[in-house]
Amino acid sequence: MSKTLAPHPHTASRLALSELAPGAMQSEIRAMTTECDRIGGINLAQGVCDTPVPGPVENEAIAAIRAGHNIYTRLDGIERLRKAIAAKQRRDYGLEYDPETEVMVACGATAGLHAACMALLNPHDEVLMFEPFYGYHVSTLKSMRVKPVLVPLAEPDWALDVDAMRAAVTPKTRAMIVNTPANPSGKVFSRAELESIAELAREHDLFVFTDEIYEYFVYDGAKHICLATLEGMRERTIVMSGFSKTFSVTGWRLGYVTGDAKWMGAMGYFHDLTYVCAPSALQHGAAAGLEQLPAEFYTRLAADHQSKRERIVSALRDAGMEPSVPAGAYYVLAKATRLQGETAAKKARYLLAQTGVSSVAGSAFFRPGRGEDLLRFCFAKKDHDLDEACARLRRL
Ligand code: PMP
Repeated sequence: MSKTLAPHPHTASRLALSELAPGAMQSEIRAMTTECDRIGGINLAQGVCDTPVPGPVENEAIAAIRAGHNIYTRLDGIERLRKAIAAKQRRDYGLEYDPETEVMVACGATAGLHAACMALLNPHDEVLMFEPFYGYHVSTLKSMRVKPVLVPLAEPDWALDVDAMRAAVTPKTRAMIVNTPANPSGKVFSRAELESIAELAREHDLFVFTDEIYEYFVYDGAKHICLATLEGMRERTIVMSGFSKTFSVTGWRLGYVTGDAKWMGAMGYFHDLTYVCAPSALQHGAAAGLEQLPAEFYTRLAADHQSKRERIVSALRDAGMEPSVPAGAYYVLAKATRLQGETAAKKARYLLAQTGVSSVAGSAFFRPGRGEDLLRFCFAKKDHDLDEACARLRRL
């Protein structure tokens, strides 16, 4: 005999979305990409990074498929890649991680952050992060009922206000997220700024999750500093990075986390639960890249993107949209005051209709009410497409 159940206490019916589900909402970035595709425009909205994949990375991934590396790997990745990541952290930052217990290959830095939050945070914890922010950081926290607490960076150069950061700490604060070089601002945190973040973390016994996906995209001699290298920080810093940007393989979904062995087991548990492992053959491609690409590959990468940055910055100036010149990453925030529309979303659509160039509304990176006068442009595009986009912007 079937029993009729009462409606769910929080909704009129049991056939309802979860409390956390955002309804039919779609990210502004994806929305602009769809609209851009529809009109056949040039997409500077999404950080797709369609530059060529380095030879060793591509060749070894293909060879790995043919050699039969097509089955599950260990949940934290193949030994070869874990060793290559540990060697890279030593080479670049002098950091020692045990490839057996302190390196986890993840399905992108995105999955790395998700696993780290699942492993280390509880519902209602608070996590400090800087505004403008990368949307996934905020949404990942919210999806676990963790509260993001935004600390605004000061325009025009997005300087850290140490007093504002300190004032944001409460008894519920458990961690901070630091993204350097940053999306969307292009800010590269200075040593002094990182020292004050580290000091706060030590004082209040906080974790710091660092998203270093743009570690090699630094310009004008700026230097990327890994927070885990600062005094007392290795134990409490969860370092996240990946291959999406460096090897132009955003669709491969391959990144990693390095951190103290104390935390990595639980992280692996949660990563396994959703992904089982990162794509097996592609892990060989990434390992070959780390093993074989010379230092010049990384300096070329930065130099090429610096040249792309110069081109878009100059085109935006000519178009009357004053850019905030990024020191790193591959996005520019530009002033959209001269464009029609009351909101940044409307301004972005106006610009797309006028020029066929898509951008993202600045409001996607700020709390409600902020960022309405900014648009974000991604310049990690093939030279030909970028130059065409620049020419169109100049004709505005
Ligand atoms: N972190 C930041 C700051 C990013 O901008 C992006 C790409 N938009 C990612 C992470 C995504 O990295 P992955 O592809 O490794 O998940």
